[in-house]
Amino acid sequence: MNEIDVLKKIASNLTERKNSAALSNYRVLCSNIAFLNKAFATAIGTLRSLHSQIESSLTNDLHLNSQYKSGTDLNAFVPIVSRLQLNSFSVFEKLAALTEPDERAHITLESVSALSRGFDDYNDLVTATRQYIDSIVSDSYQLCLLDPKSFNYHVLVSLNSFSKYATKSLAHALFNVEVESALNEFGTIKFKDWTKSHITECNHSTFAQKVDFLFSVLGAPTDPDLPDDLKNLFKFSSEFTHIGYISTFFTSTAGAEVIFGDEDGPYLPSTENFSELKYEILETACNALLATYIPSLIKCLEKLMLKSQADKFSALLHQSAAALSDAIGTRNSKYFFFIKTGLIGSTSSIPLTCMCGETRTWVPPHATTDLYCTSCGSSFQLLEVDGDGGYIITSNGPAKIIGANVPDFHDLPMAEQIKLLKQCEEAAKSAHGPQPGSQPDAAQ
Ligand SMILES: [Zn+2]
Repeated sequence: MNEIDVLKKIASNLTERKNSAALSNYRVLCSNIAFLNKAFATAIGTLRSLHSQIESSLTNDLHLNSQYKSGTDLNAFVPIVSRLQLNSFSVFEKLAALTEPDERAHITLESVSALSRGFDDYNDLVTATRQYIDSIVSDSYQLCLLDPKSFNYHVLVSLNSFSKYATKSLAHALFNVEVESALNEFGTIKFKDWTKSHITECNHSTFAQKVDFLFSVLGAPTDPDLPDDLKNLFKFSSEFTHIGYISTFFTSTAGAEVIFGDEDGPYLPSTENFSELKYEILETACNALLATYIPSLIKCLEKLMLKSQADKFSALLHQSAAALSDAIGTRNSKYFFFIKTGLIGSTSSIPLTCMCGETRTWVPPHATTDLYCTSCGSSFQLLEVDGDGGYIITSNGPAKIIGANVPDFHDLPMAEQIKLLKQCEEAAKSAHGPQPGSQPDAAQ
């Protein structure tokens, strides 16, 4: 193969759109995106509403630790911390707006092209992602550090680049005499000394170094893959923002697409592929908020405020984090059900009620590919058991065996319910048997 062969292969990739097959269930994907997007937007909304309370507390000297009170050097961080948060929220909200689920209500075969996703859509989503991931890590880093030189570096490097191209009127509006003099001082420092000078310092200049530093301070995240996920998403989104060769590979040519369909109407392969990326990004974005931003803000407030004040906000922030964490946790879980032997493969329809409340009716011939919840995307695993007892006693409570000829637990006479619950209590004390709603891997 010579250089022209390689070039030709690249050229064909740039121009021939590949009709990738629908990789997973589009309806489930949309439902997952809607759920997670709502949780994400709610968490951002909570942060925004807490901001005004935090701000008024920060301007009250009675709430601050002595080294941050008015008149001290470090009091400069009070307005900075307030402003940093507001900047972050704008960037967070932009990503939330771009990760809403597809609107399919009025899509018909004639208008299905409205669902086609191309370069512009990818460009919007991925550049907003790049902005999000970069600013969430950078802001978390500054909130954790609250170090004058490190903050100066961060701001002066940006201002320095900004001032090179900003128009006179823009510069005039943004740069007052104080900023000018700070920039002039910065101008006297050689580029190689920027990271360690009398006014600036930067010990973690790259994105990856900042991520590693954050987790070394905040503790390892629950998901051990998160640091790599963040770094990979940063690289992926940077590619779009900076050079864009790869992005145009799979997004540049509009060709005729095969039309898919489901109960909600028609859609296109590109719609689904785009949604898959959207979902991945949304999940990482939620995890970043949980594992970097919220704990960094808590850490920052603990430095600035008296313990009683910091504890108050910390409790509220933990509450918001827990809600988001629950939302992530209930997506795509694996649940299992006890089912009477012989029911699978019979002519009966089997109702499977997911932990999210949605019931899927599993109709014959009981294809295992249908074993998932259409609402939350969780997958179901069935354990066949002898149905004679009617219920399985678990440490999580009694579970009715699907297909067993007994009433639902809550329809039993109270005495029967109590008897079963007592047995469950015993089971909880002794063993960790399989529990409905838990991960099967965790069960013995
Ligand atoms: Zn479900």
